[in-house]
Amino acid sequence: MKSTFSTLFCLEGLFLDRVEPAGKSIYLHVRSSRTVAICPHCAASSSRVHRRSRRLLKHMVCDDRIVYLRLTVRNFKCPSCGYIYREKISGIDRRQTTEHFRRKVVMKVRDRSFRAVAKEHKISSSFLVQSARDLNKQVGILWPRESFVLGIDGHSFSGRDFMITVTDLTHHKLLTILPDNKQVTLKRFLANIPKETAKLITGACIDMDQEYRAAIEQRLKGVPITIDKFHVVQLCNQHLHDVRRIHTSRQFPLPKKLLERNKEDLDKKEKESLRLIFRRYPSIQELWRLKEFVRSMYRIKSPDKAEERYQTLLDGLEGDPRPRWQSMHGTFTRWQPYILNYFESRVTNAYTEGVHTRLKLLKRISYGFKNKVNYIAKMSIAFLPLTIIIQHLNSAPGLT
Ligand SMILES: [Zn+2]
Repeated sequence: MKSTFSTLFCLEGLFLDRVEPAGKSIYLHVRSSRTVAICPHCAASSSRVHRRSRRLLKHMVCDDRIVYLRLTVRNFKCPSCGYIYREKISGIDRRQTTEHFRRKVVMKVRDRSFRAVAKEHKISSSFLVQSARDLNKQVGILWPRESFVLGIDGHSFSGRDFMITVTDLTHHKLLTILPDNKQVTLKRFLANIPKETAKLITGACIDMDQEYRAAIEQRLKGVPITIDKFHVVQLCNQHLHDVRRIHTSRQFPLPKKLLERNKEDLDKKEKESLRLIFRRYPSIQELWRLKEFVRSMYRIKSPDKAEERYQTLLDGLEGDPRPRWQSMHGTFTRWQPYILNYFESRVTNAYTEGVHTRLKLLKRISYGFKNKVNYIAKMSIAFLPLTIIIQHLNSAPGLT
């Protein structure tokens, strides 16, 4: 029976003397199950208890009731050097909560705001934020043990303040969030990847960002870089919208969504609307065709055929003297090998984009963040697989 209670209340390493329910609280009278302690001065073992004292610790929430530990702590006297010291109990430090409590609470922060969880557990938000930061620090980055492709992409923390999201695209894991999107930060991060892990990186996927590319080429030598295909199509769409914005008017609106829609998804009415737009604005038609050309290129299976198609694209752009087309020719030439790498690697940053969608959602339920470290801690925990959190709860010594 005792051991059932011990398991139920996560009391490994502690001896449960008595359970005392009292209103909205439950008190568990516990003490260490060890009979001897080791002197921190001279390492002699001692069973001479000098004094006993009691502590009250918040340990868990069970069905809306707060479970407290009434812990008896002993002071021992060393028989050899006479030093008096307090016994160490793992999972318990000077704080008024057990490690178990802090970690359990942190788990709840995964999909709720710090404030809401703090209220439920009758604790302060700042305490909770600190616990989240502690857990995040302890867990660190969970590097995969098998080969993987690195995903790197920026997302907005607030306004123009960007951060870099780093993912494992092979196993669909968020690895970390870097506090800004400066090249030096990315370089430092890449340089700190453990050597054994770096060997497992078979590729990297980014958008057309020179700084990301240079950082990867410098720090992860020989790792092939793929440009995310959605960003390539997006680049075409961007040009399409630039021109759209010039021509759109109240009398003759040019709907963004309609121009962006995939050719194969257009219904009869939409096709007719496009025909009207194209007749009036040939430059829009040209860019729309370019976008569809690029999209169709991505449907090609063979890398050789894709390269041929890419050459056709470059030739077409090169032959057009207009500045916009010349600029696109420059971009597509610069990024050619990286864009074509897709046809070998077949990787995209779709998972990373999914992470960004969830980050936005979490940011909204948390009413935004002012502090970057808190933001990173919260988001990292939200993406930790539950199994990993439980594993950490179990492997932590003492009270878990
Ligand atoms: Zn001693």
